[in-house]
Amino acid sequence: MSFQVFGIAVSRGVAIGRAVLVASSRVDVAHYFVAPDQIAPEIARLLRGRDAVVLELETLRDELPVDAPHELAALLDVHLMLLHDEALTGSASQWIVDRHYNAEWALSAQLEVLARQFDEMEDAYLRERKADLEQVVERVLRALAHALGDTPTPVTPRDFGGEDPLLLVAADIAPADMIQFKRSVFRGFITDIGGKTSHTAIVARSLDIPAVVGTREASRLIRQDDWVIIDGDAGTVIVNPSPIVLEEYRFRQRQSELERARLGRLRHTPAVTLDGEHIELHANIEMPADAEAAVAAGATGVGLFRSEFLFMNRDGDLPSEDEQFVVYKAAVEAMKGMPVTIRTVDIGADKPLDRLSVSELRHEHVLNPAMGLRAIRWSLAEPSMFRQQLRAIYRASAFGKVRLLVPMVAHLSEVKQIIETIRKVQQQLTDAGHAFSHVELGVMIEIPAAAVMLPLLLRHLDFVSIGTNDLIQYTLAIDRADEAVAHLYDPWHPAVLQLINGAISESRAAGKGVSVCGEMAGDPDFTDLLLAMGLRSFSMHPSQIPAVKQRVLRADTQRLAAALPRVLESEDPQSAASKEFATARGGAAAVH
Ligand code: PEP
Ligand code: MG
Repeated sequence: MSFQVFGIAVSRGVAIGRAVLVASSRVDVAHYFVAPDQIAPEIARLLRGRDAVVLELETLRDELPVDAPHELAALLDVHLMLLHDEALTGSASQWIVDRHYNAEWALSAQLEVLARQFDEMEDAYLRERKADLEQVVERVLRALAHALGDTPTPVTPRDFGGEDPLLLVAADIAPADMIQFKRSVFRGFITDIGGKTSHTAIVARSLDIPAVVGTREASRLIRQDDWVIIDGDAGTVIVNPSPIVLEEYRFRQRQSELERARLGRLRHTPAVTLDGEHIELHANIEMPADAEAAVAAGATGVGLFRSEFLFMNRDGDLPSEDEQFVVYKAAVEAMKGMPVTIRTVDIGADKPLDRLSVSELRHEHVLNPAMGLRAIRWSLAEPSMFRQQLRAIYRASAFGKVRLLVPMVAHLSEVKQIIETIRKVQQQLTDAGHAFSHVELGVMIEIPAAAVMLPLLLRHLDFVSIGTNDLIQYTLAIDRADEAVAHLYDPWHPAVLQLINGAISESRAAGKGVSVCGEMAGDPDFTDLLLAMGLRSFSMHPSQIPAVKQRVLRADTQRLAAALPRVLESEDPQSAASKEFATARGGAAAVH
């Protein structure tokens, strides 16, 4: 039966493929394909994992003390029975044969299928056996992980004659897990939780594949292996579409690929407006490897390197100075002399150090993480960690143009502490004989307090970067990761526009650099507005650069600026902008 699920559009385009349901807690299970000649060995590996757990449980049962409760032996029997059930390992083996999934993936895919069947059972006792099944699978996954040196080499679908594209469906994906999907087999994402600028959505966008978040119940309604269309423009998911709908979406998919190819040709065109203003289009990256995509997309620098992804998934251990230095240097060298803006760690809110999903954070961890010990607050609370990161960043400056950006600043005292720490760090580096060059200092303007008191902060800074994602969140008191209030997250809110406009004009008046690196910068619907406000430096995901550049090439900044007051004074800035800026663009013929 065909049906639709509605969510929030976070990453554009159309994806058509089969649903792969992954429990949030198992998103980090390895997902890869095995070569045809590895299918039999992979099934054998799965069965070895199963047998190891059987042995473990049999030993446990045999060694139960005589006075152990009777239920314990019965429970172990149930677990052993589940392990021997063909519906688990037999069907998991079939996933390996049919789909070339690796053993862990096959097992978790089958778990999702069986879990649904348990959920639908009338008998409460049987329904509760789902928890046993989950425990058993968890044990087998652990056994597989411990049998090191045993895993096959991953291959791509092309290596075995093509496969249906796969779309990931999960209740929630933590940003730390999302980052691991960068080179994954999935061609689209659907989650129950999340808002447009939640970090999971941001990483999905950086992957440049269609995604819909905040669907509330997609992971409950969609079944393993269902055919699914993700309409990343509308925020809609169509499950088991009819042939006519499928054909329509295949057509749209081809159109959007053609449009991408057309925009891609703008890669080497300089971003200059019709009235001759040069616009910097920089890239937001999460890993040095992303710098390659940035250069390929025509970025003229990195405007935001979110260094926190380096700190995640490490079981409490933090990256050392040397480890960080190697990573920053790699990004700097990859950008070949173009500036690289490294942001100090922004841990906290929906980006915890460990692998917690947003829902876990919300309900179990911290009362209000977005307002807690996040970003610079955390760095200043951990001075030796902060100095370590600053030393690594400064050392990387010996290899290219590095700029230092600090997130979540709200107090002048924080800026003063940062400057004081930088002095110490420079002295330490000099004493240790490490080379470094001049590093410009900037802060993110993402708390309304910083935007309001900007002239005072600017005296101590070289540049600022406006983080519209958080600025909107804090100005409107809307948790950006919470789909329940997503409808109130409004970048066109007059208060937000006034803060952004004020920050741009005050920075320019003070002769200091200003850029926008929040999601607004990469959305072509805001390009005219930001140009009208006087912005000349934008930072976004590499994939967004061509569409924004097209807007820039068609813009006349003087005419846009003249229309700006009517937009800012309007009670409905969004409609006013579409009318006023269209008129301002007026005679300007399309250049491409
Ligand atoms: C922002 O807040 O706009 C921003 C760019 O930082 P992040 O999305 O990482 O919080
Ligand atoms: Mg931010």
